[in-house]
Amino acid sequence: MGKIVIISGPSGSGKTTVCKLLEKDQHVKKSVSATTRPPRHNEKNGESYYFVSAAEFEDMIQRKELAEYATYCGYCYGTPVKALKEALKNEILYLLEIEVQGALQIKEKFPEAISIFLLPPDKNTLGQRLIKRNTNKEDDMLLRLETADKELEFKDRYDYTVVNDDLDATVNTIRKILNLG
Ligand code: ADP
Ligand code: 5GP
Repeated sequence: MGKIVIISGPSGSGKTTVCKLLEKDQHVKKSVSATTRPPRHNEKNGESYYFVSAAEFEDMIQRKELAEYATYCGYCYGTPVKALKEALKNEILYLLEIEVQGALQIKEKFPEAISIFLLPPDKNTLGQRLIKRNTNKEDDMLLRLETADKELEFKDRYDYTVVNDDLDATVNTIRKILNLG
């Protein structure tokens, strides 16, 4: 039986970077979410996300194809249930890089899921990392920083909180939590 691993944290806290490094392990796989957000220049459909229209997203909800879904900074995001169930049938650690509302829905449906909240060292660093990543327009970046305060209020509802200061140390800490050798 596989396991669900939820990774949440404010935009820029390092979720995508950390998940990519964890995915180097053959037992670890990351879920590909559906979203109505437009792709960033470095994102490929079917790899980073399934990029869908609002109508397509609504259809997915109606057809019960999503294990959870939420709206974040004006766009919809959801986890396809079929691939999740497939991963659980196998010995896979299935990473869900999702925001807090979705994480709560998953914990309710799958209480055995392990939840990890990734924290930036401080808010200043979070802002600098978002600027460095340079994938959001300024307005969007400010909205994401504002949203970070609300997201942080949920951190105590997670099984683990990890401060992503040094990247290698962060990945090692999470590998230990997940019992990856
Ligand atoms: P998220 O997926 O949480 O929005 P990203 O993984 O895109 O965050 O990381 C945001 C930016 O911060 C990226 O440019 C990434 O390279 C950088 N970053 C991530 N972790 C660290 C770290 N521990 N130290 C320095 N920079 C980091
Ligand atoms: P981004 O636009 O930066 O890729 O993602 C914005 C936020 O949506 C992040 O917090 C990310 O973890 C979250 N997210 C990505 N996919 C999903 C999903 O399938 N469900 C939920 N609830 N949140 C998601």
